[in-house]
Amino acid sequence: MTELFIIGAGASGMIAAIEASKQALKSGKNIKITMLEHNTVPGKKLLATGNGRCNLTNRQLNINCFRSHDIDSLKECLNGSSADDIISYFNDLGMLCTDKNGYIYPYSCQASTVNDVLLGACISYGVEMVMDAHVISVEKQKSEHKSSGGFIIKTSEGYIDDNGNRKKKRCEYRADKVILACGSKAYSKLGSDGSGYNIAGGLGLKLIEVVPALTGLRCREKTYTLAAGVRTYAEIKLYVDQELMAVDRGELQLTEYGISGIPVFQVSRYASYGIADGCKVSAYIDFMPDIDRATLQSILERNIKNNKDADIYAVLCGMVNSKLVRKLLSDCRMKENMPAKDATEKDLLDIISAIKNHYTVIIGTNDFEQSQVCAGGVKLSEIDENFQSKKLPSLYITGEILDVDGMCGGYNLHWAWLSGIKAGRAVVNEV
Ligand SMILES: Cc1cc2nc3c(=O)[nH]c(=O)nc-3n(C[C@H](O)[C@H](O)[C@H](O)COP(=O)(O)OP(=O)(O)OC[C@H]3O[C@@H](n4cnc5c(N)ncnc54)[C@H](O)[C@@H]3O)c2cc1C
Repeated sequence: MTELFIIGAGASGMIAAIEASKQALKSGKNIKITMLEHNTVPGKKLLATGNGRCNLTNRQLNINCFRSHDIDSLKECLNGSSADDIISYFNDLGMLCTDKNGYIYPYSCQASTVNDVLLGACISYGVEMVMDAHVISVEKQKSEHKSSGGFIIKTSEGYIDDNGNRKKKRCEYRADKVILACGSKAYSKLGSDGSGYNIAGGLGLKLIEVVPALTGLRCREKTYTLAAGVRTYAEIKLYVDQELMAVDRGELQLTEYGISGIPVFQVSRYASYGIADGCKVSAYIDFMPDIDRATLQSILERNIKNNKDADIYAVLCGMVNSKLVRKLLSDCRMKENMPAKDATEKDLLDIISAIKNHYTVIIGTNDFEQSQVCAGGVKLSEIDENFQSKKLPSLYITGEILDVDGMCGGYNLHWAWLSGIKAGRAVVNEV
């Protein structure tokens, strides 16, 4: 009998267990599948995805929705994968999906449905789920042939029970095949605490520096406090040194510390790497991206002409969010109660620049705890197109622990499903 161990009962680990079970059943191979998970319940992060609704994939999927330091290997891994593959996989497991402008959710719009379906399938296939098992290391057993010999998996020796007593438990397992599906170190309170990177490093796998991604950006200017809480449609251009790295549009949020919201999340990984490399990171924000400068100037001049007695604050409040007006006027060093008709041409140009070309210096990102995913991780050059280690055959690596980060929109889970299914299938084929 072949012993397959999967480390991590998250998105990619559970789907890998299901696919390996299916393939074993189909081929009649005798494979025992065990999952080791350090949380007390599986799929804790999954439950938090998509604001509790789980955006599991996206019909707009293409290579540009993913980032990696190794785009060629990424292309090989994706290899024509589509949202339909994932939708039909879940349909076969008994879960219906719904399509909201290309964003795919479970029909129930409950992330718990996805978790229940995966867990239910694992249980019905007889996958052994060992909870409360924190894996410390995976060691390749010595053998003359690098493809044989198996692995020794070590977990923490004990745990503290509900009554505060230290309990001993099994802490060593022998595996023929291993799938490393430990996730990253984003939102560690949900389980993935970065220990997977240590396990991978201990096995001799090479890693790319891991940084927070899909996260908010901290800005140098103090005037953000004046507009904290504002949500407004905007375009952000992110620069590292003088180079334009990414552009995105959508609902931008202004916060006490700076900027957040989906368009900021989308560009944040470039800021993370820029800051880690000691570069100057900055952004230009356009708070009225659908209106060009000349049109904005004529609208502003017309509104001032038509509201002769109004102050500049009141005139601008007819155009953008009132809290944002406070910040913009403060940035322009203009008094809110200045009569609009007294504004000089330079004042108007300053206001237009503040709205259309708002410059901000990025001094940091939010930390890993407030980031949806991580960029960086195990190099893609370490694995083949079936997610098998090139150095250590019989070892597979899936999901977010790899050097791939998707944009917001269901791409990170797509990557988890895709890698888990491919690894689960390949591991059985290799037996
Ligand atoms: C708040 C939030 C919302 C998100 N929403 C979306 C969304 O809507 N759509 C989308 O595509 N992506 C979303 N993501 C990202 C997505 O959840 C992850 O990319 C995905 O879960 C990664 O899957 P994984 O299997 O690699 O890792 P995980 O799902 O994190 O699973 C890893 C598992 O391994 C376990 N583990 C880790 N180390 C060890 C160890 N040493 N021993 C034993 N067990 C271990 C962990 O406890 C965890 O259960 C969101 C992330 C967050 C934080």
